[in-house]
Amino acid sequence: MQQCYTASPEGFVSDDSESSQAKTERDRALGMDAKITRRDFLNGVALAVGSAMIPSEMWAAAAADLGAQDVAGYYPPAKTGLRGSHPGSFETMHKVRDGAFWEDAPKAVDTGESYDLVIVGGGISGLAAAHYFRKAAGDKARILILENHDDFGGHAKRNEFRTGSRTILGFGGTYSIESPAPYSAVAKALIEELGIDVPSYPKYFNKDLYRSLGLKPRIFFDKETFGTDKLVLNAVHTGGDESATNDEAGEAGLHEFLKEAPLSAKAKEDFQRLRMEKKDYFPGLSSDEKKARLARMSYAKYLTDTVGVSGEIVKLLQAFPHPLFGVGVDAVAAQDAWGMELPGFNGLKLDPTPSRGMNRDTIRNDEADKYFFHFPDGNATIARLLVRRLIPAAIPGSSLADVVLAKADYSKLDAPSNSTRIRLNSTVVKVNHRGDPTSAKEVEISYFTEKKLKTVRAANCILACWHVVIPYIAQELPDAQKEALASAQKVPLLYNNVLVRNWSAFQKLGASAIHAPGMYHTSVNLDLPVSIGGYECTKKPDEPIMVHMMKAACKPGRPAREQHKLGRIQLYTTTFETYERNIREQLLRMLGPGGFDPARDILEITVNRWPHGYAYQYNSLFDEFWLEGGETPCQVARKPFGRLAIANSDADAYSYTDCAIDQAYRAVEELKKN
Ligand SMILES: Cc1cc2nc3c(=O)[nH]c(=O)nc-3n(C[C@H](O)[C@H](O)[C@H](O)COP(=O)(O)OP(=O)(O)OC[C@H]3O[C@@H](n4cnc5c(N)ncnc54)[C@H](O)[C@@H]3O)c2cc1C
Repeated sequence: MQQCYTASPEGFVSDDSESSQAKTERDRALGMDAKITRRDFLNGVALAVGSAMIPSEMWAAAAADLGAQDVAGYYPPAKTGLRGSHPGSFETMHKVRDGAFWEDAPKAVDTGESYDLVIVGGGISGLAAAHYFRKAAGDKARILILENHDDFGGHAKRNEFRTGSRTILGFGGTYSIESPAPYSAVAKALIEELGIDVPSYPKYFNKDLYRSLGLKPRIFFDKETFGTDKLVLNAVHTGGDESATNDEAGEAGLHEFLKEAPLSAKAKEDFQRLRMEKKDYFPGLSSDEKKARLARMSYAKYLTDTVGVSGEIVKLLQAFPHPLFGVGVDAVAAQDAWGMELPGFNGLKLDPTPSRGMNRDTIRNDEADKYFFHFPDGNATIARLLVRRLIPAAIPGSSLADVVLAKADYSKLDAPSNSTRIRLNSTVVKVNHRGDPTSAKEVEISYFTEKKLKTVRAANCILACWHVVIPYIAQELPDAQKEALASAQKVPLLYNNVLVRNWSAFQKLGASAIHAPGMYHTSVNLDLPVSIGGYECTKKPDEPIMVHMMKAACKPGRPAREQHKLGRIQLYTTTFETYERNIREQLLRMLGPGGFDPARDILEITVNRWPHGYAYQYNSLFDEFWLEGGETPCQVARKPFGRLAIANSDADAYSYTDCAIDQAYRAVEELKKN
């Protein structure tokens, strides 16, 4: 089959020398015409990221396409196609950002509704804030949660697929209960109150399934980056990976890797040296002095300038930090690479105590490492358990066991009789006190939904939305606070779920997880085999399974925040057709030798696009204050103001569920002082 498309981290680029007939044939072979659900705004016309550039009838159409949550059949988890920040969720807010919303906004309609608390954002932080407020103010407290997406949970999103009589679950965002630091007493208490017994996780996890079938983590070398397409044992980064066994981590693994890897003799020698050598590259310096140096140089620079390895090794290691940082080794400090247990630090004799300037993701903690729980839909289960507490009629059942397969009834979320209501597809565009913020008794909240601008009032308001949004909607805030809020650039990510007919190609190739440093998606994993609450994971290679494909959208060589901004634009402007082709091409290239046929074997695709993904965590290469100490931007950003309090994981610059919970708790405590 003619290839026609060349791989790059930007995606598969069409080779112009190929005829359009060859490309059509290639697309047919990839299954681009296969009958799967495709959901894209305006049939795949590329979206301009600034909505000022999108004609207003287009964004209105996108917003109106969402449907009403109380209509029968409204069930967003089962939607496939373009999800995450889906069409219709972001256009209004982008118009506000561009100053284009208010000029043609419809006249506001006063709903006459009044609440004790309105929460902007229905992610885990917003849902947890409602939970804590109810605890403080009683079950009858009237709470409204306004959320711009068509589903609740924020990043903690559930994807459902149907195949035959089976439902297969996937995580559209937040993967698991885990955090580099131990959960706080507050966050742990909530997890327990929701009925999640974290230490019981091994009961549900079929840890040995893939190993028992001979499947191991592999690394895919691609032709464009390394000269040939080849799948090799992943013996590169085993540090910090608890699931790594001696197969990969031991000498035999290294030997196999070096024998198979399509690297030059010099690069192989370099890699062996990097893994085995015990040389002190900074003789005469104390551990603290060495760490201070490492904190200010990228790992890429450390590798080439200090250790002196070839560029091939940098390419090999480039994407290993993607899952945590959303950027590669060019934008990760060498001190953080040491924290991540990447190779090259054996001889430095660094004091293992964490040091100033380390990214919070690279400080290891034994207690935290053991606190892990993965549900088949990730932490969407936490969101669903919170919703069940707040609105019991919306999610049937009463235990952890019955929540996994329970079908949410979206028509109950905003029922007028509820004390807590969740209103979806509603973008908050303005929040302001009615009168002087220091003495006002009420806040007015304006939101845009179904082409209408509406207002509600509340005695209190918690902004549990992304911090970059807040300066546009809460204009009363002091300028210094708005500046701090605006600095919370989110990390753009793609979490794609692909339902495949079977995984016999993975089995033939002996791969359970594939790291692909030069490809569009840098990791491709078989679903984590977890059976819980009547949900059974796939156990046989001839059965359908969910394959998870991750991409961190970044532009190596630039400061991290700039990379995130460019990545965000890339994600917003990529059409579903391109995402789909990238998925199909990559699976064919990696799994074709094992018999995988994308046209035959791909059953469904859900692209979970998160241009505003992880909270930005401070990085010693770009955030001098992080090395110096003192007040951080997130501490300035989260200060309460009148009847407004600020939550979200941005409020502590820490991209984990426990942070979303802790910040919700703090915000409610602050409001209690009013
Ligand atoms: C792909 C991905 C994977 C992750 N994996 C993990 C993991 O495995 N474990 C972990 O602990 N953490 C993980 N995280 C981080 C974790 O998801 C978050 O820290 C946490 O869920 C954030 O919750 P939140 O409520 O603070 O924010 P969000 O989930 O972002 O919720 C905020 C909500 O506010 C909404 N909003 C924004 N503006 C407006 C507006 N104007 N009007 C109305 N609503 C608005 C947003 O659309 C969003 O739904 C992951 C994050 C991502 C993106």
